[in-house]
Amino acid sequence: MINVAHPVIGKRERQLINEVLDSRMIASGKYVTAFEQNFAEYSGAKFGIANANGTTALHTALLMCGIKPGDKVVTTPFSFIATANSILFCGAKPVFADIDPLTYNINPAELEKILKKEKNVKAVMLVHLYGLACDMAEILKLKKKYKFKLIEDACQAHGAEFQGKKAGSFGDAAAFSFYATKNMMTGEGGITLTNDAKMDKYGRQVINHGREGHSTHTVLGYNYRLTNLAAAIGIAQLEQLEGWIKKRNENAAALSKAFENLDFIKTPAVPKNCRHVFHQYTVRVKASEREKFMKYLADNGIGSGIYYPAVMYKQPYYKKLGYKSGLCPEAEKAAKEVISLPVHPMLSKEDIEKIINVIKEYGRE
Ligand SMILES: *Cc1c(COP(=O)(O)O)cnc(C)c1O
Repeated sequence: MINVAHPVIGKRERQLINEVLDSRMIASGKYVTAFEQNFAEYSGAKFGIANANGTTALHTALLMCGIKPGDKVVTTPFSFIATANSILFCGAKPVFADIDPLTYNINPAELEKILKKEKNVKAVMLVHLYGLACDMAEILKLKKKYKFKLIEDACQAHGAEFQGKKAGSFGDAAAFSFYATKNMMTGEGGITLTNDAKMDKYGRQVINHGREGHSTHTVLGYNYRLTNLAAAIGIAQLEQLEGWIKKRNENAAALSKAFENLDFIKTPAVPKNCRHVFHQYTVRVKASEREKFMKYLADNGIGSGIYYPAVMYKQPYYKKLGYKSGLCPEAEKAAKEVISLPVHPMLSKEDIEKIINVIKEYGRE
């Protein structure tokens, strides 16, 4: 079976993990600090706060931006549930803006409609979905005009770029995930980035029980810390990330070229000003075909996945909160049509050829 995800774990990860084990400093420690610095520098941000996972990194980012109970935060409905859940953690209200059907990212025009209509929007949390950066030029224009805090959910976008600038460096704060299947991983893990020294200081308190100094607790905080062990894996993974991104792009280009003339499949768009990092290689098929197509792929040894089969506000918990269907038609349509194919850096040339041949064969049926 050719799987959709394949975490790479090599010599360097093992070497650094052994160093940490030998040091007996397996909770906090200097690997965490080094990883924070390396990742922040790589992403073009001043400060990085290592986190237990991407979800806590999002929660930390929202708190750093001052989000409080009753505040409204605009976001996309087409993402992993953690995006909207982190807004609920703050007692704030997610307001959903529809996506651009070509990029699957929040549509700036839809975002502006909401900013015009809704009073007291405190923040916008956008998601660079599948590893493609949002239209940051338009979004930064809106930020200037409507004055909201900007948080980037960059959990799928390590190293992604818009006009040569990295995802995670545009907003007031950004969050990344290092979950096992992301483009780089630490098992579970995450990081919050910011360029603001005060926000960084508060964020460090958020992840560590509000601690200031040794045993004084001046604000409410959590235990959202990353371990030295996980950070050791992260350091090793970051060293290899650029090579993996290159491989993902080569794989994606080969797939898109091969599918160019197939009319039953729509390949992902790559806007000119973006470096896509293809966390997912996501195509569209007719809603009525998707189940059959996925089964055909599985029968032929090719894994696939649906990210995401439902918009967030259609989840039972969100329905209970009062959200109604039909809010964001483009996102709802995408949820019925998307399917992600293997694109990870461990695919061999033969794997890519097999994926191409199997899918072309489906078209001939
Ligand atoms: C993975 C992911 C998260 C959550 O990250 P975890 O590390 O699993 O908590 C949040 N948002 C998006 C878009 C993700 O892909």
